[in-house]
Amino acid sequence: MSLSTPPSGIADIGVTGMAVMGSNLARNLARNGYKVAIHNRSTAKTEHVFDEHGDEGEFYPCESMDDFVQTLAKPRVAIIMVKAGAPTDAVIDELASRMDEGDIIVDCGNSNYADTRRREEAVRERGLHYVGSGVSGGEEGALKGPSIMPGGTAESYDRLGPMFEKISAHVDDVPCCTHVGPDGAGHFVKMVHNGIEYADMQLIAEAYDLMRKGLGLTAPEIGKVFEKWNTTELDSYLIEITADVLQHMDPKSDQPFVDIVLDQAAQKGTGAWTVQTAAEFGIPVTGIAEATFARSLSGSVPQREAGQASLEARASQVQVDDPDAFIESIRQALYASKMVAYSQGFELIRAASNEYDWDIDLGAMARIWRGGCIIRAVFLNRITEAYERHPELPLLLSDEYFKAEISQAVNDWRLIVSYAALSGIPIPAFASSLAYYDGVRAEKLPANLIQGQRDFFGAHTYHRTDREGTFHTLWSADRSEEQQD
Ligand code: NAP
Repeated sequence: MSLSTPPSGIADIGVTGMAVMGSNLARNLARNGYKVAIHNRSTAKTEHVFDEHGDEGEFYPCESMDDFVQTLAKPRVAIIMVKAGAPTDAVIDELASRMDEGDIIVDCGNSNYADTRRREEAVRERGLHYVGSGVSGGEEGALKGPSIMPGGTAESYDRLGPMFEKISAHVDDVPCCTHVGPDGAGHFVKMVHNGIEYADMQLIAEAYDLMRKGLGLTAPEIGKVFEKWNTTELDSYLIEITADVLQHMDPKSDQPFVDIVLDQAAQKGTGAWTVQTAAEFGIPVTGIAEATFARSLSGSVPQREAGQASLEARASQVQVDDPDAFIESIRQALYASKMVAYSQGFELIRAASNEYDWDIDLGAMARIWRGGCIIRAVFLNRITEAYERHPELPLLLSDEYFKAEISQAVNDWRLIVSYAALSGIPIPAFASSLAYYDGVRAEKLPANLIQGQRDFFGAHTYHRTDREGTFHTLWSADRSEEQQD
């Protein structure tokens, strides 16, 4: 069957890539009153979307890329929602060769921000606009209202922004979409969002593990604890679904669902991208890094088998006298560690914004994550408020709200990290977040010794605390000191 050629210049926007994300985004646009051209490499998917959902709004199904482009009203806006990587490059080429000056290509896939920067430059040279846009919230978000993080030029946002703001999630009538900044800024922020999501999930998993192994609670009992926590500062989508997952019973075995799920966490790579990028920028995102590596460890089957067979715990049996107080301490430790992970993530966004002159409004990023996305949480309001109070805040944790919250939690945090170390329960994200907290507030760090070692073996030089300049000690000669500049 072939689709008839739709009228020319009629659609407000088009979506190419009719897999789950693209079709849901197209339906969301159509349900919001936009005329939407739809296209897919293989026509069957386009037909399927039109047959199943054609009555939800005004769709213009297109068989060929020629039809797709000519159906769009000028300046044209074409969204690409295909597999990230080479397929996205291929579709950009197909679109760009058919478009005219001022038209806009929008990549809503999970592209690496460096690819987006490269593509933006290439497309700009052809007289077109290129928008790399993060879209969070999975299939349901795409259909019912995602958090949208578009990059690209301000001019392209003038055309695209009103449509994206309308279809995005709304919290207190405020859209979860804003212009993030030029070229790769949108995909960068989406990457960090995903990294923070890794940290959030790992912290929740560690809290669960502490209650499971420390207190011997069952999964449904722990689910009830998370349900209560969802009425506190931790109120968030991830805590809410954790309560649900832990209380779900497997119908086949009649056991708690989590007890029949293999303990090997998969990953699609955005956590690793965040860690690699942070390493390049020199920003310590320890919470995200530990979360990413915890997933790697869970999947390191031969190593885990060897470890289980050979390594002893030599752990103490630490008695928990008051389980309720212990659970509250875990909650405080989780909250404190979460504050650290977010603070680190926002520092990474700031570093990239400075490097690439993106001028990203950090408070606005927290605001557009309040709805539609996986890390949506009441807590994000506090971040927005902090950056509104102090736009140049060098460390989120030093804002008065976070400072007070974390000081109030720190005793419990230390207790839980010590308890876990003594008991042999691995809590890498809790522990590394506490170490970051102690590191960032320390008056002196042992980095002076590292500088000494570096100068000793590699003549890498050092700075003194008492004089300006760069120095080197002649370690293998008479150990006198030379000034290098
Ligand atoms: P997907 O499985 O990543 O990709 C399938 C789509 O890509 C199909 O429409 C397919 O067309 C098309 N495609 C693959 N290679 C192509 C090529 N060389 N030329 C043209 N089209 C090609 O689909 P998805 O899960 O809907 O995700 C789409 C994008 O959104 C991805 O970048 C993904 O990372 C991102 N994303 C996904 C989620 C999620 O929850 N799934 C959330 C946020 C973002 P055919 O039908 O012809 O094969």
